[in-house]
Amino acid sequence: MNNFLYYLCNNITSLKQQEKYPRVNGFKSRLNYILFTHYSIAEKTTTSRMENNKKALLGMTLSQIKEAVTRIGMPSFTAKQIADWIYCKRVRTIGEMTNISLKNREILERHFITGFSSPIEAMCSTDGTIKYLYRVDNNHFVEAVYIPDGERATLCVSSQVGCKMNCLFCMTGKQRYTANLTANEIINQIFALPQFDTLTNIVFMGMGEPCDNLDNLLQSIEILTAEYATAWSPHRLTVSSVGVRKGLKRLLDGGEYHIAISLHHPDPKSRSELMPAERGYSITEIVELLKEYDFSHQRRLTFEYIVFKGVNDSPTQARKLLKLLDGLDCRINLIRYHAIPEVPLEGVDNDSMTRLRDYLTGNGIFTTIRASRGEDIFAACGMLSTVKQNQNN
Ligand code: SF4
Repeated sequence: MNNFLYYLCNNITSLKQQEKYPRVNGFKSRLNYILFTHYSIAEKTTTSRMENNKKALLGMTLSQIKEAVTRIGMPSFTAKQIADWIYCKRVRTIGEMTNISLKNREILERHFITGFSSPIEAMCSTDGTIKYLYRVDNNHFVEAVYIPDGERATLCVSSQVGCKMNCLFCMTGKQRYTANLTANEIINQIFALPQFDTLTNIVFMGMGEPCDNLDNLLQSIEILTAEYATAWSPHRLTVSSVGVRKGLKRLLDGGEYHIAISLHHPDPKSRSELMPAERGYSITEIVELLKEYDFSHQRRLTFEYIVFKGVNDSPTQARKLLKLLDGLDCRINLIRYHAIPEVPLEGVDNDSMTRLRDYLTGNGIFTTIRASRGEDIFAACGMLSTVKQNQNN
């Protein structure tokens, strides 16, 4: 099946379906809209949703699997075998778990499904970036973005359907909040990814605010870093947050993964116009909390800063930014703005980005410019899922 996907992705650039690009509130996608309507049909045996009240194994921790199997009368050691089949071998059916007796597999099948659900659509950029759409419970959709870059391959993962934070510049925010993703739905974006074996990094920066769905996010991270599963170093994971009062401390205490804070403006009043979450937990309080943690070794703290023309790109704001972050071991990541419909914000040109980066780095905070990827495939977070949701309504 993966070969099928690669085939389509590699060949789709020639398939410019001139009049078939979807519209997002009047905007037209420029290239490469691909409907993978047959992709999931070939994987009928897999689903992330509850099937006749059967629970998904993918997304359960080892102790949860142990508890579940003992409840149905199976020996607890089968939990380790099941975790191995799900997380290491990634089998799509319980029937393939051949070191478990046939009788126990039949019992398992009466109560559980493996819980893998392949992406239903994919859009491939000419730069190699692939935006995947996954169907989640109640016929909603979330995005995961695969970004290959030389030796690295990063996956940007969603944590919610929609988002409560309503940031002015974000398409997901415009969707408003619909639901938290379950641990199965979060981790499925990773484990059902066609390029799973190539992944080097995961960033929880997709749709939704991770701090708003912490139980399921932390459970997913526990699985990714556990010996019985993928045993990834937490330093291959980054969790991004706008900073939510109820949650940020728990997120910081939850593990050694990297932290990214969406900053976007150094001045609280102006930040609140871009990000209403500022009113609930101000950036100055967030910075004070961050100062209690050690980011001087392997754990990294990054501030994400989308640069908007005439809004947060002046020398005065750059100086305020340096003052705000003074005393923190951190870096700043400047991000180009991907325009979304009906939002009166504009990005800046390359020279302005470079000037800002050089000024900040020259004054003590190492600053990078995030390479823009997937410009031709609805680069802004939430655009593809918005299109799909509109088609379904
Ligand atoms: S930028 Fe992040 S926190 Fe803000 S609305 Fe979008 S998904 Fe939510």
